[in-house]
Amino acid sequence: MASAQIIDGKAFAANVREKVAAHVARLKEVHHITPGLAVVLVGEDPASEVYVRSKGKQTVEVGMKSVEHKLPEQTSETELLALLDQLNADPSIHGILVQLPLPKHLNEDLVINRIDPAKDVDGFHISNVGRLATGQKAMVPCTPLGCLMMLREQHGSLAGLNAVVVGRSNIVGKPMAQLLLRDSCTVTIAHSRTKDIEEICRRADIVVAAVGRPQMVHGDWIKPGATVIDVGINRIDAPEKGAGKTRLVGDVDFDSAAQVAGAITPVPGGVGPMTIACLLANTLTACCRSHGLPEPDGLTA
Ligand code: NDP
Repeated sequence: MASAQIIDGKAFAANVREKVAAHVARLKEVHHITPGLAVVLVGEDPASEVYVRSKGKQTVEVGMKSVEHKLPEQTSETELLALLDQLNADPSIHGILVQLPLPKHLNEDLVINRIDPAKDVDGFHISNVGRLATGQKAMVPCTPLGCLMMLREQHGSLAGLNAVVVGRSNIVGKPMAQLLLRDSCTVTIAHSRTKDIEEICRRADIVVAAVGRPQMVHGDWIKPGATVIDVGINRIDAPEKGAGKTRLVGDVDFDSAAQVAGAITPVPGGVGPMTIACLLANTLTACCRSHGLPEPDGLTA
């Protein structure tokens, strides 16, 4: 039996979307501005197509303008960069997202860094990475932003808490650590070469797992009462559901961790839904900043 509070990411994300929608409605009514998000997809990766469809649908649901550019697999770098230049110059577009991964012949760094940093709603542009690291106003990557929102809700102030981030990727682990540092946590980043990782996690008031290894973080790694945020999305075999069936699990062994933790996010239904909600929040923030209007409360880092 789980003793931890289960953090309901679906409900949390719905609440974020409601706040975004309310702010968008005010922007339209008072300032006659409609925030616009452009999503660029190159190639035909089925998982990416699902994400892009879902992003477009939710963008429209909160009252924003959604534009999708689907380009063929063989699109050249020159063509893609030209499209980004066009979107950068379009005043009706406040957020631009290039769905990753890109086909191998395209240089991801070059492409991402062509996006106007003010419209970089994924927060991957080198200028936003640097701004986040130096404590300046930045566009912040969506998944870590979602985790931060849930942690702030759970703890109020995070100042002085020991936080361990397992994973050091550019899209989750590193920006997550920067955000926690910015909220005055004492931050440790663990990775594949970390020694005594269990012991390090056991000292943490907050554990964020972003590893990509199914159920790696066990209950006996967790300090009693700690908050556990599981970013991982892994598909594993589920013979109990029938031959050839699979199910989604996180990087945390939920059943054992939930016995010890104070609060924990499930997979699915935890961090996952927050990512698109934060993309919408970032688009709204980018729109407000570009018009010199106040930023939405509680939706930024
Ligand atoms: P990456 O593969 O880019 O990074 C994984 C990190 O985990 C690396 O830093 C790696 O260390 C570290 N790692 C790997 N094995 C171990 C180990 N045995 N012990 C400790 N650390 C280890 O993954 P991402 O950051 O992109 O994603 C992480 C997970 O989050 C994945 O499951 C992904 O699907 C999920 N995800 C979920 C999102 C959501 O919306 N909920 C969004 C993005 C990702 P090293 O650097 O040393 O190799």
